[in-house]
Amino acid sequence: MQGLMMNTPLLITSLIQFAAQYHGDTSIVTRSTEGPVRHSSYGEVFARAQRLANALIDFGIKPGDRIATVAWNTDRHIELYYAISGIGAICHTVNLRLADAELVYILNHAEDRMVFFDTDMSETLARIQTQTKTVDRFVAMTDAAHLLDNGPEGTIDYESFIASASPHHDWAIFDENTAASMCYTSGTTGDPKGVLYSHRATVLHAMASCYASTLNLRTEDVVLPVVPMFHVNAWGVPYSAPIAGTPLVMPGPKLDGQSLFEFMDAECVTKALGVPTVWMSLLDHMDKVGRKPAGLNSVVIGGAAASEAIINRFELDHGVAVNHAWGMTEMSPLGVVNTLKTKYQSLPRDQQMPTKLKQGRAIYGVDLCIVDDDGQELPRDGDTSGRLLVKGPWIVSEYFKAGESALNPEGWFDTGDIATLDPDGYMMITDRAKDIIKSGGEWISSVGLENAAVGHPVIKQAAVIGVAHPKWLERPLLVCVPEGENQPDLAEIREYLAEKVPKLWLPDAIEWVESLPIGATGKVLKAELRNRFAGYTVG
Ligand code: AMP
Repeated sequence: MQGLMMNTPLLITSLIQFAAQYHGDTSIVTRSTEGPVRHSSYGEVFARAQRLANALIDFGIKPGDRIATVAWNTDRHIELYYAISGIGAICHTVNLRLADAELVYILNHAEDRMVFFDTDMSETLARIQTQTKTVDRFVAMTDAAHLLDNGPEGTIDYESFIASASPHHDWAIFDENTAASMCYTSGTTGDPKGVLYSHRATVLHAMASCYASTLNLRTEDVVLPVVPMFHVNAWGVPYSAPIAGTPLVMPGPKLDGQSLFEFMDAECVTKALGVPTVWMSLLDHMDKVGRKPAGLNSVVIGGAAASEAIINRFELDHGVAVNHAWGMTEMSPLGVVNTLKTKYQSLPRDQQMPTKLKQGRAIYGVDLCIVDDDGQELPRDGDTSGRLLVKGPWIVSEYFKAGESALNPEGWFDTGDIATLDPDGYMMITDRAKDIIKSGGEWISSVGLENAAVGHPVIKQAAVIGVAHPKWLERPLLVCVPEGENQPDLAEIREYLAEKVPKLWLPDAIEWVESLPIGATGKVLKAELRNRFAGYTVG
């Protein structure tokens, strides 16, 4: 027997429609690419998204067409999210830090018909214009007064593009499984792969993001996503904040510590989300000025592991609570978020820390398990580590144009991460499968060793890779960026680490470098480090 309830499709338009109706005057403040701070609101963004939707249809955009955005976190970018998906087309967010060849590959692979871009990308797009095979029109996300003349040929400014379109749009109702947006993986191995998010997946992910034990979004917060809208939809915040009625502060292109600090301070941001490298730079500035941005009371750290050192700097030095989170492009992206269960809350800090350092507990909607190389499920004892598999309604089933399932026969997606699960449900990433160091049959967690190393006062950043060893096959090389002039020798660093990690993990060599290679999504490029130290042997 069927239930007798309404079968309302879960469409993205409903998110912004709700926000416009019930939180119409809630603010969206943007530091624009042109410079000045711009004030908008959910009501205004919804109104302008209607005009934009009509302009896209007038231009000839049809359901299923892909439209690229090469842009920072701004109010106009939010308008694009809703207008494009709302007419059944696909908002393809492109990482603007990519090299020319990668941009060309992605735009051609997606067959994007239009490209909306921030003006600081004008020159880059002009350079690759002739190589983009399907793009009919480039639109600069600015007004006529700020249009640069170094952009692709035929570029029109955004304000002129929408100016003559009708202000009212009747949003179509269609199947909730229709594709809404698309993001390519960082492609650290092989070509980047397109992940095609559906309306249903995005709405469910947005609803789950608001839970108290997920991002805990509330009307009384002011949220700043540092994580870019081109990196897994800024972790879904442009979709979740509207349904929570949470004011948004969009930082545009200025993401250095000082600029973030000043903008957060001025706009009374209470919660911000980003990757560890961004937080390091903000923390350095907080230390310099001796305080936190006035309203800031919590940060979410994801995309790479949060070390004890970074958590302590936020929580102990500045009174800003940290939630660790893990996810991936293929997961929309949220998989787990770390909030402490009641039983841990009354424990002394040092006893909480091992749990706080874990990536977090599964959100309802995401199923997790760990398996060995033969696919046999491993115990959830917090000790045994294995390949992390995931399942759920906002997780990829197949890559764009791949023509084959991305899942194993039991319907699980292999994340490529190695993790432990404990009896309370906390998951801890011990490594990427390809980064783990296999030393004489034992596994050494590069992430675990890096986190321990950055606790040392003279180590600013650390990355660990495996290098050849005649007996153990692979041993860890610790590559460090120093905090100041002091570069202690291996013996001193090993002595420090000996109290924190198993003896087997202690690095066999240390190299001091000026900087680590950081990829377009803010993560250390281990592959590049491996190339740089190719042929390095120890023992
Ligand atoms: P991306 O698809 O670019 O977002 O990258 C996803 C990958 O980043 C994951 O599979 C993990 O390897 C890594 N990652 C994300 N969040 C964390 C975290 N909190 N700790 C450790 N690794 C993480």
